[in-house]
Amino acid sequence: MSGFVSRFVSWCVSWQTRAAWPASTRWLPRRLSTRFVAVFLGLLLLVQGSGLAMVNWSIQRNARAELAQNLKVAERIWQRLLQQRAQQLGLGAAVLAADYGFRAATASHDEDTLRSALANHGARIGATVTAMLDPDLSLRAVGEGSDPATAAILQTLAPELASHGSALVLLNGLPFQLVMVPMKAPQLVAQVVMGFPLDQALVDDMHNVSGMQVALLVRRAGVERMALATLQAEQASELLAPANTGKSEVRLSDSPHLVLDVGPQALAADPATTPTVGTDRATDGFRVLLLRSLTEAVAPYRNLQATLAILTFAGMLLAGVASVVTARRVTTPLHKLVRASERLGRGEYGQAELDTARSDEIGDLARSFDHMRSNIAQHQAQIHDLAFRDRLTQLPNRARFGDALASAITQASGTGRPVSVLMLDLDRFKHVNDVLGYAFGDRLLQGVAARLSVATPREGDLVARLSGDEFAVLLPGCDATQALARAEAIADAFQVPMTLDDHTVDVAASFGVACWPLHAASAEVLLGHAEVAMYSAKRKHSVAGVYDPTQDAGSAQTLSLLSELRRALERGELRLFLQPKIGLADGSLVGAEALVRWQHPSRGMVPPMAFIPFAEQTGFVRQLTLWMLEESAVQWAALQPLGPKRISVNLSTRDLMDQDLPAKIDRILQRHRVPASALCLEITESAIMDDPQRAEATLNTLSSAGFKLSIDDFGTGYSSLAYLKRLPVDELKIDKSFVMAMETDEDDAKIVRSTIDLAHNLGLTVVAEGVENAAVLQRLTELRCDEAQGYHMARPMPVPDFAAFAQRWRARTEAVCG
Ligand code: C2E
Ligand code: CA
Ligand code: CA
Repeated sequence: MSGFVSRFVSWCVSWQTRAAWPASTRWLPRRLSTRFVAVFLGLLLLVQGSGLAMVNWSIQRNARAELAQNLKVAERIWQRLLQQRAQQLGLGAAVLAADYGFRAATASHDEDTLRSALANHGARIGATVTAMLDPDLSLRAVGEGSDPATAAILQTLAPELASHGSALVLLNGLPFQLVMVPMKAPQLVAQVVMGFPLDQALVDDMHNVSGMQVALLVRRAGVERMALATLQAEQASELLAPANTGKSEVRLSDSPHLVLDVGPQALAADPATTPTVGTDRATDGFRVLLLRSLTEAVAPYRNLQATLAILTFAGMLLAGVASVVTARRVTTPLHKLVRASERLGRGEYGQAELDTARSDEIGDLARSFDHMRSNIAQHQAQIHDLAFRDRLTQLPNRARFGDALASAITQASGTGRPVSVLMLDLDRFKHVNDVLGYAFGDRLLQGVAARLSVATPREGDLVARLSGDEFAVLLPGCDATQALARAEAIADAFQVPMTLDDHTVDVAASFGVACWPLHAASAEVLLGHAEVAMYSAKRKHSVAGVYDPTQDAGSAQTLSLLSELRRALERGELRLFLQPKIGLADGSLVGAEALVRWQHPSRGMVPPMAFIPFAEQTGFVRQLTLWMLEESAVQWAALQPLGPKRISVNLSTRDLMDQDLPAKIDRILQRHRVPASALCLEITESAIMDDPQRAEATLNTLSSAGFKLSIDDFGTGYSSLAYLKRLPVDELKIDKSFVMAMETDEDDAKIVRSTIDLAHNLGLTVVAEGVENAAVLQRLTELRCDEAQGYHMARPMPVPDFAAFAQRWRARTEAVCG
């Protein structure tokens, strides 16, 4: 059964793709239920129809057999009827023969009397033919009224009559029954023959007794005519039609009739004894046919057939309804399955309406389909999760964040409300990884993720981990100011040190804010601008910053900027500016810091902050540093007579990572015959802390090569003193933010003072940058700071200006010192 069902279902499925059917089968109904019903009803019709035909056929056959049987019975009745009549007639004849008058007439030998007596007595019992024969069967007298031809026939038939006692015979074209009775006195004296015509009463009797139609046909000179019949005149004449002659079945009044030819058997025909007069047996004679209508015989079965037909019709109707219901029960769940699979195809994996509660094969199919659906949904969810979730922190990843940002912008474009992005990057995370191990770093990131999630409880905010130690927060509905406030709140939450295992770490991060639609039109650009703002904040050592297009003059088209920068180097658009460094002990010009400028053909003089961060990002800064080193070496040699003792050149993180940097500088110096002591290399604290081990290695190499090393922007980073102590540095350069504010901010003044003390304790010289007025210069002198650099003395300037400045400065110092 289940085999049948599965074959049936696969057939149903193949049904759906009817386009693939051979052309010869396209006419079949497409819908499964229609086909189902058609097939079932067709089969039922076939079975019921053939049943009906069988019944009909067997009714016909039985009726025919029964009719044939009835005809046989009727034949015997007919013969019995004739026999009875013969007996009756014989009895009448015997009574006549015993009649005294008649005997007397016989004995009188008076022929006329005899003939008259024969006629009279015959008439008494209804015999129209009478005769007397001698005991030797020779004809003695014929009753009055009988013609000579009759006499001749009687003479011919005498022996036959003597042996049978009676006979049927055609006399003058009329059928007769003859009986012969012996007349004894006491011995046989004569034989009396009496003939009675077969009349309508006889055949009516036969019809009444047997129920058969009777037809008596007389043939004379080979032509038959109807002599007696119980049939209607019309049927009688139809029966005479030549086509019906000798048939056992004929059609009368359009109804089939079975026919039985019964005689006359009583007349033994002996052609040898056939008289030449009267009747010629070859061409004359008569026969009796018994007939019965088949329609009448079948009539009793008609009711049965009608009942059967009604039953068949009712059965078909019922079967039709049942097959429609059954087809629906099969096809409705199949349609549901088809719809469900279409939904799967569209990528909709939700619960589908299926007949899973059914206990049959269709239920099995629905359940396994549903199982498959939920498996696919699960896998899809896993794939989705893998694609859009960060495994370590369980936060959404960059792809998910990008999507969410894009859809937040799409939504906001309807309402006009702002959307802000907050990007943050942990400070010194690489250092944590290197010192405490990657497993610890991972846990730190998880901790940061947890804190971030707690710090952004607002619904609709989305925290994501973009990469490494970079996170982002989506703030729909926040403008730049609100986003900045949120950034500061998160930074506050980070203030509490994080304790993992036995280590307590300070977590600090820089935040960048960019806001739609103020800063960018698309999600991608907005994210990029938040990153720019974040790096800008990092550089400024501030906690958070909002994107400012002026900081990012070139970053909009980074690729074209990179190629522009390359061109700038090749076409000599870069300029070396020098800013003097003054010794505070005697006010002499002790050195200069080399600062790069870009003389852009259309944009004019571009400040380093507009392209150095980008150059650092892309690595181009390494070429730029080499250019600066070469240019500084050349200028140092040229400026010698006026002399700054050394020129300070800034190195970036990228430079520190370059193991070949010492060798490259060495080659430059050798080319220009400049000693290593002519150059001071400024390295920011954060550049060292990005990868302290490699930085230390490079610094060691550079120091042993004779370069002076300076820690730039000191105070803004987080380098530990112990670590600083290990590094081969010669100088600390106090960040200008402290120096500029020391006049007004006592804290900053303290920091400057203690930095100076610290540096001296470590045996280092101290430079203060950002000296903008005389008061600060005076204060620094009092604090025994070694050198100062700042706008108060001079701004960075082109080399020719610097030469003039150096001359002026020397003259002034000599004048003062006198
Ligand atoms: P920095 O190394 O800290 O350089 C000192 C910056 O402070 C210079 O800005 C200088 O013009 C500025 N400054 C000096 N005195 C004063 C003052 O009294 N008040 C104020 N407000 N500012 C003062 P500049 O030239 O714009 O350079 C900015 C930064 O760009 C530099 O900071 C340095 O980090 C980077 N940079 C400049 N040139 C180069 C270079 O050739 N190579 C690398 N790697 N970085 C460079
Ligand atoms: Ca510097
Ligand atoms: Ca500096």
